[in-house]
Amino acid sequence: MTTTKNEPNPVLLWFRKDLRLDDNHALQAAATSGRPVIPVYIRERGEKASGPLGAAQEWWLHHSLVALQKALHALGSKLILRQGDAQTVLEKLLAETGAEAVVWNRRYDPAGIAVDTQVKAALRDNGIEANSFAGQLLHEPPRLRSGTGNHYKSYAPFWRALEQSGEPPFPIVAPEQLPAPGRWPHSDSLDSWSLLPTKPNWASDFPDMWTPGEAAAHEKLENFVETALDGYAVDRDFPDKPATSLLSPHLALGEISPARIWHATRALAGKVRTDDIVRFRKELVWREFCYHQLFHFPKLNSVNWNERYDDFPWHADVKLFDSWRRGQTGYPIVDAGMRQLWRHGWMHNRIRMITASFLIKDLLIDWREGEAWFRDTLVDADPAANAANWQWVAGSGADASPFFRIFNPVLQGEKFDPDGGYIRAFVPELADLDSQYIHRPFEAPADVLKRAGIQLGEDYPLPIVDHAAARQRALDAHASLKNDR
Ligand code: FAD
Repeated sequence: MTTTKNEPNPVLLWFRKDLRLDDNHALQAAATSGRPVIPVYIRERGEKASGPLGAAQEWWLHHSLVALQKALHALGSKLILRQGDAQTVLEKLLAETGAEAVVWNRRYDPAGIAVDTQVKAALRDNGIEANSFAGQLLHEPPRLRSGTGNHYKSYAPFWRALEQSGEPPFPIVAPEQLPAPGRWPHSDSLDSWSLLPTKPNWASDFPDMWTPGEAAAHEKLENFVETALDGYAVDRDFPDKPATSLLSPHLALGEISPARIWHATRALAGKVRTDDIVRFRKELVWREFCYHQLFHFPKLNSVNWNERYDDFPWHADVKLFDSWRRGQTGYPIVDAGMRQLWRHGWMHNRIRMITASFLIKDLLIDWREGEAWFRDTLVDADPAANAANWQWVAGSGADASPFFRIFNPVLQGEKFDPDGGYIRAFVPELADLDSQYIHRPFEAPADVLKRAGIQLGEDYPLPIVDHAAARQRALDAHASLKNDR
């Protein structure tokens, strides 16, 4: 035990997916407890662990922890880093520091819930105070029930219920200082966790687009509400426009709270069209709906929500899957999306829908393969949003897009990237192609290709499938399924 004489025993403040000081109820409870506070982040390891994070998000985590260390330092505090099984690590820290209380903010992924429930029970059995708080969502999933007492299975009534349940709680501000213990326990060095890629450093372009950390999240929110929210409802579908908030990776690790974002749009009534504010809030509520699904159906990332899809005749094809992953399908909008994902660890929402539809319906590759690839490569990978959206595109999810709605990658490209600016940014070999053919290079006359310096099949692939034939094959596969059981 390391407390000094007459000092109250410390409280452990356990950070998880809430890497922020603002609107952090566990932090507030620790700061006002009258005890010295020991902030700790545990990189959870082992079979029961929540996570683990994909490689792109580990890059984010590294930088986010650096930012949190600095922010805590400014409050006169520190961040203790440890790794291992959460309960074992906490028990060790309690023994080392003499702490008699642990506080944290709740999380809602199944592994996280299981760990937290067990930890809370074990701590309390040992006479340790253990308290948890809300903060990852606007409304906690167990609270929201439909009129019949069940959970919601469609988005529209879910949204109405949220609207009717009033404004989410107002965010609270960060404390100005945090009482430090007389002596600090040992911390791992962040570098020893090797979260950053080195050989090769595939994340070398990430910093062009991202600055992880709470301060950057707030800056982004401010910038978004001032410059892009106006017009959001329409512009959000155009990948070449800076029209969306880019807050998803910050939300994924809790660098900003959804309540802070929600309330930032309140002040804009009268300045920004209501349509834009409502549309943006509806997207934030999609995130809630995804968590609602995950909470009530914990196997969302591995089992079809609608069991009718359990017999779907998938075609596992390593070569086609690899072409999709590398952005070499011969369909420029798909390839631009997959390359944006690789280059920046992020992809525009409209393009996520197009690339996911292409994998599932044009290639007939199991949606779980796509979900896993996105989980490893997205900096905003989120256990609820990723799984729910993949199932949404596959048609197997709650309130999903019907399977027969199969995106035509050429028409989608022409509609949402009419000048091909997005293609040119991520598929440089097509940069000089006329706009008329930028989404269908395989139809371009030889002289047009020559002028653009492209030899199809050499510089850029021919389509790996014929969309019309693939569409029919997908519809036939779907028709082979039995009706809902
Ligand atoms: P904005 O348009 O500014 O929206 C604001 C916030 O609302 C987002 O940050 C996000 O938190 C939430 N949001 C927006 N759209 C959705 C949606 N469809 N579902 C759930 N929440 C939404 N989002 C993730 O955060 N993590 C994922 O792992 C993820 N995987 C996806 C996989 C597929 C196949 C698809 C189709 C979508 C996925 N999304 C995921 C949802 C969406 O694409 C991203 O949230 C969005 O593109 C993030 O950009 P933004 O912050 O600029 O969004």
